[in-house]
Amino acid sequence: MNIHEYQAKDILRKLGVPIPAGEIATTPDEAEAIARRIGSEVVVKAQVHAGGRGKAGGVKLAKTPQEAREKAAAILGMQIKGLTVMKVLVTAASEIASEAYAGIILDRATKKPVFMVSPAGGIDIEEVAATTPEKILKLPIDTRFGLMPFQAMRLGFFLYDDLAKARAASKIMQQLYTAFMQSGCSLAEINPLIVDKAGQVIALDAKMGIDDNELDRRPEIAALRDETAEEPSEVDARNANLTFIKLEGNVGCCVNGAGLAMATMDLVKYYGGEPANFLDIGGSSNPEKVVNALRIITSDPSVKAILFNIFGGITRTDDVANGIVTATKMNPLKVPIVIRLTGTNEEIAMKILSENGFSASSDMDEAVKKAVALATGGQAA
Ligand code: GDP
Ligand code: MN
Repeated sequence: MNIHEYQAKDILRKLGVPIPAGEIATTPDEAEAIARRIGSEVVVKAQVHAGGRGKAGGVKLAKTPQEAREKAAAILGMQIKGLTVMKVLVTAASEIASEAYAGIILDRATKKPVFMVSPAGGIDIEEVAATTPEKILKLPIDTRFGLMPFQAMRLGFFLYDDLAKARAASKIMQQLYTAFMQSGCSLAEINPLIVDKAGQVIALDAKMGIDDNELDRRPEIAALRDETAEEPSEVDARNANLTFIKLEGNVGCCVNGAGLAMATMDLVKYYGGEPANFLDIGGSSNPEKVVNALRIITSDPSVKAILFNIFGGITRTDDVANGIVTATKMNPLKVPIVIRLTGTNEEIAMKILSENGFSASSDMDEAVKKAVALATGGQAA
């Protein structure tokens, strides 16, 4: 789960990170009123779950409350990476002397949180990593001990030569680490971490990604979810208890089990196609899950073919077949469907499908090839 910049800033501010004052507005009127309360130059910032808002025109300076209103009017309703801006953060503007980067990610290889800091902060840390990797310090943390003071100072000195600034930064690193651990993050980053004209080290942006598996034991973090800011199909799928992630391709995939779903996506790619989604209907698939899955897949206009790949263990393939029949009666399909199923009650499933005009096979390779060919407009292989 992603949370907004203003929510991540609230968490960090409570832990003592220096962050300029700010409030949320959903209308230009509110933005103007907040700017008046702040009483200085402000920045109006789109609150969407996407990076690169600055480049996309979603971060604007405003010198007067009137200007804050105009900037808010321009940003509210704007599309950034396919997401509509519903809220803006109006926050006191800082004068920037330098921009650095500080982040923590969970590294699956070492199974540790890893700090990444760079004095070359600002917009594009991926670019820095690709072109000048020596400007990034990576420091894995042993969670038994946490971030040790000497490590925090090392991070601080990698960013600043000046002792006072390095100390200020090392304190922020401790606070960032605490936020990361307390909130169940898979990512927490401050970019940019700035030094202002007065020499203060300040967090101007904040981003946190929360591991979904941490939400059950952190209701206060789970409550930060903003469904209006999420991909509608993902919200729909979550409410239907399906594991779904929207992707960029055109082969809609409906699979049981996360492992088989991954293998299916690999095979789609192997045969030259691009999956439109990851969708796991789970172990026990009652027909209703299949109905929901098909509704969600077919609501994506980029889907040109649908691939069902079901390995029946606990999942009964006849349940899935009934789901397909019910769903397509309710909403006749506008795109071709390729069905592969094998395992529990396979004979019954095949019979149900053929009686209702569907063909199905038990060969995964063949089914994937066919779906890719149909999606790309070619002939089935
Ligand atoms: P992002 O593009 O989504 O990462 O949004 P950021 O909050 O990081 O803002 C992008 C850029 O806008 C920053 O790197 C700064 O250069 C600039 N910016 C943001 N806040 C301020 C501010 O208070 N003052 C000034 N002068 N520039 C700012
Ligand atoms: Mn940023």
